[in-house]
Amino acid sequence: MTFHAKFSGYADPALHAAGLYIGGKWQSGSGITVLDPSTGNLLAEVSDASIEDAQRAVDAADAAAAGWRATPARQRSEILRRWYQLMTQHAEELATLIALENGKALADARGEVAYAAEFFRWYAEEATRIPGEFRHTPSGSHNILVDHEPTGIAVLITPWNFPAAMATRKIGPALAAGCTVILKPASETPLTAYAMARLGEEAGVPPGVVNVLTTSNPGVITNAMLADPRVRKLSFTGSTGVGRVLLAEAAKSVVSCSMELGGNAPFIVFDDADLEAALDGAMIAKMRNAGEACTAANRFYVQAGIHDAFVAGLTARMKSLKIGPGYDPETQCGPMITQNAVRKIDRLVSEALAAGARATTGGKPLTENGYFYPPTVLENVPVNASIAREEIFGPVAPVYKFESDDEAIRLANNTEYGLAAYIYSRDLKRAMKVGKRIETGMLGINRGLMSDPAAPFGGVKQSGIGREGGVTGILEFMEPKYYAVDY
Ligand code: NAP
Repeated sequence: MTFHAKFSGYADPALHAAGLYIGGKWQSGSGITVLDPSTGNLLAEVSDASIEDAQRAVDAADAAAAGWRATPARQRSEILRRWYQLMTQHAEELATLIALENGKALADARGEVAYAAEFFRWYAEEATRIPGEFRHTPSGSHNILVDHEPTGIAVLITPWNFPAAMATRKIGPALAAGCTVILKPASETPLTAYAMARLGEEAGVPPGVVNVLTTSNPGVITNAMLADPRVRKLSFTGSTGVGRVLLAEAAKSVVSCSMELGGNAPFIVFDDADLEAALDGAMIAKMRNAGEACTAANRFYVQAGIHDAFVAGLTARMKSLKIGPGYDPETQCGPMITQNAVRKIDRLVSEALAAGARATTGGKPLTENGYFYPPTVLENVPVNASIAREEIFGPVAPVYKFESDDEAIRLANNTEYGLAAYIYSRDLKRAMKVGKRIETGMLGINRGLMSDPAAPFGGVKQSGIGREGGVTGILEFMEPKYYAVDY
């Protein structure tokens, strides 16, 4: 792996991990370029795995599987705990790496590292509490004993928008459950994954328990791994489109799948909401990671009586944000991940404007170097515009006016997605009643941020299958085994 000179000034050289990580060995190489999204300049070049590398990774995960499964839960827990501690000790270097390769503002990157490390702490705790069950059959014929066993080798595929947290949210429960894993991070942000693998090594993760591969051929490499009968689990976080392709591929060998896919979160503000609280929440729900989050508020439905004040307040706040490279400590809104991402946002905004929307701030890509799109507020957006149906994944807040609770619910549910939703109202009874009718896996009530390692994260409809985090997250990597016992 090579690093651009600029890079070494920003990150701890000890975390410049090299190339593929297979069976506890590092294999340097090249083929995948990592760019600084704030300039488009080269940051680093990392290895491009071949099918043979992927097969070696499955071999390594298989060789380590029996030992890891037999390792006492307390010992697995302590390794995860040490990994949590090392991430915490290296928080600033990891945050800088994330800000460099992903572009997000340092404050967001620091938040991500803390959130990511918490998955290791939480699953260090959960590793020692794997549930079992004992029941009598209603007929009295025998007894039911239920154990939970590790599912087997797990392939973990993660996106670029949370390069640390999406990996720990899978590795934590998988290792706690007793599975060995192969992580394939996104090509745009491999450096964080490799740096974390280096810390895992230091924490005492045995060779082969965690393997990391980067590839420019994710489809071919993943299909090869899924076709190997030793691989029993696929845990994917990414777009709904790729999720559908992977579900079809996994079906060929009936591999167990957990899917954390795209979102199109409605953010509903009722007339009786606390306006300042709703604006604070809106800024978090929209602007964490400059809008590049699956939980990002994608559609703001604001009741007629509070609509104009909300638009004015949101416009003022969005206008005041400082745009710049993520690694500049002053930055509040960093670049988008790629030029393509900017093009997509531009298309959605241009179509909305052509259909009658008005930009109260922003509305056009910035022309300087790097992949920047300014914080933008749109009002008077037609409810059927493509910006209401597709994930924006950028700093754009389209606002729609509504009159009644029923109308808000109908609009909120008018999407194939069902990951996250937000409601602001001083009337908790009303918020709960409306919330019950919203088709979503997660609902923030008077809160713009819901992610927490102790809570079940995931979606309904085409936003996914399964949950990560919480007490059930570990069961995504376990299979119940039923013993019918007569004694
Ligand atoms: P993406 O294009 O679906 O890519 C996600 C991962 O899948 C990357 O590692 C990518 O590798 C890999 N990939 C792409 N095509 C593949 C294939 N045919 N077979 C196997 N792997 C393949 O998504 P993204 O643009 O990185 O991330 C943004 C999306 O993720 C958004 O839709 C967002 O909502 C969603 N997301 C969901 C959650 C959640 O928890 N529900 C959390 C975060 C993000 P390459 O990088 O090499 O292409």
